[in-house]
Amino acid sequence: MKPEARERLRQIRLQQWADPNGPYRRTDRTTRSGPKPIGERVDKGYVYLYRPDHPHAIGAGYVKRSRLVVEATLNRVLDSHEHVHHVNGIKTDDRIENLVVLSRAEHNHIHKAGRRPPAQSWAAHGLDGCTVCGRRDRRYMARNMCHACYESERRIRLKRG
Ligand SMILES: [Zn+2]
Ligand SMILES: [Zn+2]
Repeated sequence: MKPEARERLRQIRLQQWADPNGPYRRTDRTTRSGPKPIGERVDKGYVYLYRPDHPHAIGAGYVKRSRLVVEATLNRVLDSHEHVHHVNGIKTDDRIENLVVLSRAEHNHIHKAGRRPPAQSWAAHGLDGCTVCGRRDRRYMARNMCHACYESERRIRLKRG
């Protein structure tokens, strides 16, 4: 197979993995509470999709839907040390605008900082406030930025990528 053809197949596969209505979709099973998609599972609040041929499928072949959505956008499979964080705190909200990729350390920081008042979350990072907008009333997000600044940087990065 030519490299270009292999690359195109790889891209198609990434889109298919993230697509709930794509070829991986399985017929809904009707239960008393309505139709239930087979191949979808919720564990500890996160939605998992059945993607047994994904390189990071766990256990019986499931992958977090949030990761699949990000991977289709970035056009690559995430490393296991890359965490996907739900910005609004709702773990089932896997819209791309609600997801950010963070290192494990950044991710832990956010969840710890989230329990402190914003001013303390900056102090914990040795900062007086966001290094871009200077605000202290917004919580620390990652890379010395508040949530809003981190988000706008990320959008620029996604557009470029
Ligand atoms: Zn998180
Ligand atoms: Zn800022």
